[in-house]
Amino acid sequence: MVSNRVAPIQEGKPSAGGLAIGVLDALKETGGVWFGWSGEIVGEAGAPVLEKAGNVTYATVGLTRRDYDQYYRGFSNATLWPTFHYRNDLSRFDREEYAGYMRVNASLAAKLKLLLKPDDIIWVHDYHMLPFAQELRKLGVENPIGFFLHIPFPVPEMMRTVPPHEELIAAMCQYDVVGFQTQSDQQSFTDYVERTGRGHFSDDGMLQAFGRMLKVGAYPIGIYPDAIAKAAEQFSNRKPVRSLRDSMHGRKLIMSVDRLDYSKGLVERFQAFERFLLNAPGWHGRVSLVQIAPPTRADVQTYQRIRQNLEGEAGRINGRFAQLDWTPIQYLNRKYERNLLMALFRLSQVGYVTPLRDGMNLVAKEYVASQDPADPGALVLSQFAGAADQLPGALVVNPFDLSQMSEALERALSMPLAERQARHTDMMAPLRENNLSVWRDSFLSDLRSVATATSVTEKTVKTVKQGASEARRPSAKA
Ligand code: ADP
Repeated sequence: MVSNRVAPIQEGKPSAGGLAIGVLDALKETGGVWFGWSGEIVGEAGAPVLEKAGNVTYATVGLTRRDYDQYYRGFSNATLWPTFHYRNDLSRFDREEYAGYMRVNASLAAKLKLLLKPDDIIWVHDYHMLPFAQELRKLGVENPIGFFLHIPFPVPEMMRTVPPHEELIAAMCQYDVVGFQTQSDQQSFTDYVERTGRGHFSDDGMLQAFGRMLKVGAYPIGIYPDAIAKAAEQFSNRKPVRSLRDSMHGRKLIMSVDRLDYSKGLVERFQAFERFLLNAPGWHGRVSLVQIAPPTRADVQTYQRIRQNLEGEAGRINGRFAQLDWTPIQYLNRKYERNLLMALFRLSQVGYVTPLRDGMNLVAKEYVASQDPADPGALVLSQFAGAADQLPGALVVNPFDLSQMSEALERALSMPLAERQARHTDMMAPLRENNLSVWRDSFLSDLRSVATATSVTEKTVKTVKQGASEARRPSAKA
């Protein structure tokens, strides 16, 4: 497994980020090496540090300040992240940062190459590593290499706003399998390749582009819903959960948990809650919104602004509606242990998950899984989260429509028990069917079969070519 950041090794440490949770759970089952950045800034980048924990070997490297600034803070998070989330207004492009992005990918590929065994299958994750396979191929690596994009893939017109778009797409075609969270992300990618005339699909469904043949597919990432349900129940009596329950005095609770990121639609969410309070005065004093949002990427400038904005909005709305014994919005800036979060989800009557754009959004799935089936909460979910495709029982909203969100909140808070139960059942079934193992197994099985098919084709071509030249029959066709 290769990803930008290798998750902290200590168990039980809070770790925010769908990728980290998905990859670690999956890797523990099969065993293997997880290669990537250690999270440390170093004077000089050296060889990977290897640490074994159970059947997982962590191979981590440090990044120099320059590498970090150009590759991570720059091109990955100030160009690709905003554009892939349809915020090209927040995106900037700097040639040197892009050069740094390519340089770091090349240097990481060279370091991984030293650890590779001939029968290794390599699975690369996310937008930091779009050109990673291309760099490995340049070094002569022929192992099967798959790529999964955890974030959305934009429509071609948006992709074209990233100046080196064509180089990036060509690099992505060096993988054997390219996976996306949703059908529409997959469609955006293939639209780009087909519309620019750089590739076409063959009859067997493989994409032929930039001199290679690859499989492109949608592999929606899942969770382990039953394990989450169990943890949520077990942690329901922990102190922080009890304290929150006691402090509610029977009030209803709307719960939101996100990394602090402009793609998560936090300001719009607060404003829709404000509209709900305006439209439904009967709910004053009877419901609170708890928003947990620990800051991330605090050294990227746009992230500093969003924090100030959000604090401003929470303060303004609280100032407008609060009573001596009631605060409408509780805004908490910190991480929590994962199991505790699940118990907090279980305690709340509404899960309020309204990103403006999100690859999948695991929080939406975790919220559903955490509920007590006898008295489940309702989920208000953005249509622009990949999870909306798979959670048929959610109240799906457009996060740009504050009135619709406000109405959905009211409906969720007043939803009769029978309807909540029916919707919960409707959502648990697909969560179980498409759990995290299914995501991993279907991706790896496609990667293995594409790799086998490709090597069989290559061998056949070689054999036929050899046969033809040995027989010295210039007219023989391979
Ligand atoms: P993203 O990958 O963009 O952060 P996801 O919703 O897909 O968004 O994944 C976020 C993951 O991080 C979820 O598993 C969630 O439980 C976890 N998480 C989010 N916020 C916190 C927090 N404050 N403390 C601990 N874990 C968090």
